[in-house]
Amino acid sequence: MKLVFLGPPGAGKGTQAGKVAAHYGVPHISTGDMFRDAIGKGTPTGLKAKAFLDAGALVPDEVVIEMVAERLKGADCRKGYLLDGFPRTVEQAKALEDIIKAPDAVVNITVDDERLIGRLTGRRMCTGCKGTYHITRLKDPGVCPDCGAALIQREDDREETIKARLAVYHQKTSPLTRYYADKGTLCTVDGGQTPEAVREQIIAVLESRA
Ligand code: AMP
Repeated sequence: MKLVFLGPPGAGKGTQAGKVAAHYGVPHISTGDMFRDAIGKGTPTGLKAKAFLDAGALVPDEVVIEMVAERLKGADCRKGYLLDGFPRTVEQAKALEDIIKAPDAVVNITVDDERLIGRLTGRRMCTGCKGTYHITRLKDPGVCPDCGAALIQREDDREETIKARLAVYHQKTSPLTRYYADKGTLCTVDGGQTPEAVREQIIAVLESRA
């Protein structure tokens, strides 16, 4: 089961990817989480990536591709994996094919820009369990309802950076939907529904392909 999750920032990709990966018992590999972790630890990859994340820009292909290729060598990836946030350019998609041939299915979660901006400006991330929450659903906007750790706003979830990320998505990442549609692996899911409904739709569409 080699899956790719595509979608603009704020589509619910990370939340859904975590749940769907657990459902199939495969690792959830989020390149955004890997970069944030590397930046936090001050590794060479983190140092290369930081300015790009802060600006809402894409990290150069060669840096991301090397990091993902290394991660996919992990023993936990033998039975499959779910890639969340990679590939984000056609170049990355081609590099992925060199590593794994082609993904079995590509789930594309769609949401319109206006809704995405509302979701992202209100998004908070847990410093402990890494879960994401929306301020409208939190009793205390500073405390994780699941593990009690502190919630923070991601640096790149500020309005100006969000607009830059959406522009980058439309320019560089959305062409991937055509790329995978042509290969017959694209499954499109409406991300404007409740998280539970989106998850059910994703599982249904993946089961129908199995
Ligand atoms: P995400 O958590 O998926 O929204 O990713 C956060 C940021 O990490 C992005 O805005 C990019 O700066 C960087 N990033 C994550 N994945 C990639 C990728 N596949 N290619 C380039 N940059 C990436």
